[in-house]
Amino acid sequence: MSDDILACLGGQAVRTSPWPRWPRVTESTRRAVLDVLGSTRWAVSGAFDGRVSYERRFAEAFATFHGVPFCTPTASGTTALTIALQALGIGRGDEVLVPGLTWVACASAVWSVGAVPVLVDIDPATLTMSPEAAAAACTERTAAILVVHLFCQVADLDAFTDLANLRGIALIEDCAQAHGARWLARPVGTHGAVGCFSMQQSKLLTSGEGGAVITADERLYNRLEQLRCDGRRFSTEPSLGRLELLEVGDVQGRNFCLSEFQAAVLAEGLTRLEGQNATRTRNVNNLAAMLDQSEGVRIPPADRRVTTQTFYGLVLRFDLELFAGASIDAVARALSSELRTSINPIYEPLNRHPLLCPLNAPRGDMAQPEVDRLDPRRFDLPAAEDARRTCATITHPVLLDTEIGMAQVAEALAKVRRYAKLLCAVQPLVNRQAF
Ligand SMILES: *Cc1c(COP(=O)(O)O)cnc(C)c1O
Repeated sequence: MSDDILACLGGQAVRTSPWPRWPRVTESTRRAVLDVLGSTRWAVSGAFDGRVSYERRFAEAFATFHGVPFCTPTASGTTALTIALQALGIGRGDEVLVPGLTWVACASAVWSVGAVPVLVDIDPATLTMSPEAAAAACTERTAAILVVHLFCQVADLDAFTDLANLRGIALIEDCAQAHGARWLARPVGTHGAVGCFSMQQSKLLTSGEGGAVITADERLYNRLEQLRCDGRRFSTEPSLGRLELLEVGDVQGRNFCLSEFQAAVLAEGLTRLEGQNATRTRNVNNLAAMLDQSEGVRIPPADRRVTTQTFYGLVLRFDLELFAGASIDAVARALSSELRTSINPIYEPLNRHPLLCPLNAPRGDMAQPEVDRLDPRRFDLPAAEDARRTCATITHPVLLDTEIGMAQVAEALAKVRRYAKLLCAVQPLVNRQAF
């Protein structure tokens, strides 16, 4: 089959059977969701029915998983970032360092609390924020560093911890793509002041939508709890038939709570996370060994301080000269057709990302010089641009397959390389596929 012409030109695809489905559903997940459905407690803000809510159970399990005392579940990763920034007191007049290559929510969360996202270029080896570029971007307004553990890498937490300590500012870890990863044996999310997670559909742990903030700081936790629940907190002595929430109001909260359905799905999913992470690691190791046999595509190695690597997206780095000089977009489209899944080029750098347009939001309360500082185009991100030209990712459901699946990935890469000259004939797709 593999000597057939490219699937995107009408040939036979290398992979025709479906990849493992995502999200996964198990009998115990079904039971947990039905349990919520049959109860009268569908939300944190429902009356206490005598049982510990799924939300509290998940919060405790997620905190324990990370070896920290506190976890506040939230409605999304975006709201996790938002309340983390607010809990730290970050707002008007502050700057927050954000990597120039990440999902747009990292930057939009920062300006949504009134602060200015300062886009920092990446380390080409890991695609995460460059500590040197971050140090150079610090000003007296810099109030926090928001590092993102992107795709399958962990940002240099030693360097960023040092930088945050040196400047006396907070380190925020965005772990939306790294559930279960560890740096020097310690889970990501526990190295800075707060760790923020997303449990959106595509993530390694998911309830469709969802998020969480973890911390070891009780003062921050007290604020986080109130910020996501209209200023209320859980009572330690709930009474039957009444709300479990006490009205505190130390800070102005809003409602960013997770429902009981979502919390039940997350509590179940968490019990399978490490097993799934191990399966993906085994498959990636296999694939890396196969790719080492040939030229043209490499899986960049992790920093040796990453003691548990996780794979939200497996980064493939291409030597496109060996693909007849085709563009990464054309190669990724051809691979997607061969493998019947979406192989995507990495994000557009944030200084020109079509979804990051803060200047379109009304800012009547801001003076013009301040508005100008929100313009993402004022930043230069050459390393992020360079990575965008040469890297693509394989999404994690593929990595839950078997050795046969990994051999098919390697075969598809070889096939696309063999026929790369034909890629100029491939019509661009208008829309990206899911993921
Ligand atoms: C998904 C994601 C977010 C946002 O999470 P949502 O749950 O979609 O709001 C933030 N940061 C990163 C790195 C992400 O991948």
